[in-house]
Amino acid sequence: MKNMKKQGKKHFSGKGLSIKQKVTLWYACMLVLIVLLLFGFIFSISRSLLQRESDSRLEEVVLDFVDDIDFENGSYELDDDIRFYEDGVIFSIYDEQGRLIAGSVPTNFPADTVLKAYSFQTFSTGESTWSVYDAALSQDGQILWIRGVLPSETLFSVERTMLLVLLIACPLLIAVALLVGYSITRRAFLPIEEIRQTAETIGAGGDLSARIPTERTQGEIRQLADTFNEMFERLETSFEHERQFTSDASHELRTPVAVITSQAEYALLPDATPEEQKEGLEIILEQAGKMSSLISQLLMLARADNGSQQLTMAPTDLSLVASMTTEQCQDMAGQRQIRIDCEIAPEIIVDGDQASLVRVFLNLLENAVQYGRSGGFVKVSLSARDGSALCSIADDGIGIASEDLERIWQRFYRADPSRSPGGSNTGLGLPLVKWIIEAHHGTIWAESKPGKGSCFTFQIPLRQKQNKDTLL
Ligand code: ADP
Repeated sequence: MKNMKKQGKKHFSGKGLSIKQKVTLWYACMLVLIVLLLFGFIFSISRSLLQRESDSRLEEVVLDFVDDIDFENGSYELDDDIRFYEDGVIFSIYDEQGRLIAGSVPTNFPADTVLKAYSFQTFSTGESTWSVYDAALSQDGQILWIRGVLPSETLFSVERTMLLVLLIACPLLIAVALLVGYSITRRAFLPIEEIRQTAETIGAGGDLSARIPTERTQGEIRQLADTFNEMFERLETSFEHERQFTSDASHELRTPVAVITSQAEYALLPDATPEEQKEGLEIILEQAGKMSSLISQLLMLARADNGSQQLTMAPTDLSLVASMTTEQCQDMAGQRQIRIDCEIAPEIIVDGDQASLVRVFLNLLENAVQYGRSGGFVKVSLSARDGSALCSIADDGIGIASEDLERIWQRFYRADPSRSPGGSNTGLGLPLVKWIIEAHHGTIWAESKPGKGSCFTFQIPLRQKQNKDTLL
């Protein structure tokens, strides 16, 4: 049920509207607003044009009407053919006191209106509106008012038609805007949907090799897809390393555990002699030792990975560490008739963690002896050069094939396990050495020729201010 709920949520952006819907709504709103503004603009322009047109017509007709009035024998005379309705305009004539003396006014026309000579007025009652133009004649002190009234029906009918068009067009426009907006946004969001789907596939623990298709994407979406793909690449590599590391570690631990179990079972047999039991216990002890060193290496690497491996940096005499560890390996070298030559410059001081640096020397020296030629030599050189301590440990042993030279720094990598003399090698020594050197801001590299020997060299920055009193 929980799962179903989760599945259902996937395609919606939780609360409220999805981005697609929001963009569509914004788009539609903006479009409708623009069209309404445009419509309003056209409406007001056409209204004022129509008003002007009707006003000038009214004025023209009124002035024509005035032409048909003559002043003869001290009074105003109207032509015989004068008409009080012309071109939609209704005429009325008023005397000086504003009393209607000829013509008529439209029904519902307001009774108390002011006469204004040669100017336009608009009067309206509930349903009707009229444009009015008044002309005044003045002869011999006699004043006559002529009023032309034009019902604004034409103007209204245009407005009504436009409103009707707007009422029909608006819902249509909104529908089209929503449809077009949604299809545009949907297309624009298609690559995002692909990104989401790929991330979902990976998130569901499925295919880590899945990548977002980028052929059809451009611009910002392409950058986003590339960034995600790079992240997936890193995730895949890191998961692969993790998986490999776990499987290698368990494999490495399985062998000594199997030996310990079988030896313990053997020693516990009722007919086992005390000698056989002692031998079994010795083997168990040896295997436990191997396990313990493997576990400590694994622990250090794991701590190095998550950044919790603390190194206590202090001024350290590297010359002393080199001599001390060389001395420590003399026995082991002696067993293989290997001579250790030293060329160690005195007082090479670095800022470092002494225990870790001891581990570096021991590891490299043990490897040189282990993979060295019986009866051959190992040469340890340490000197200061260009602000760095430069140390090399060379041997004339079996060497490393060029294709293995890069891989020896990988965890659990052994160039050829069958060549490991004791069979006790873990393949974790060099990765640890590399991490320690890099934690000391140094670099390490190996040169080798199969059958001729190998040389491991590292350099660590020298301590800037040497102060003998503070040396460890
Ligand atoms: P281990 O020695 O425990 O196998 P390392 O990480 O120290 O693990 O070394 C990894 C591999 O590098 C070794 O298995 C070996 O094949 C190769 N190697 C290291 N040092 C030397 C050397 N001096 N000469 C030849 N091969 C070496």
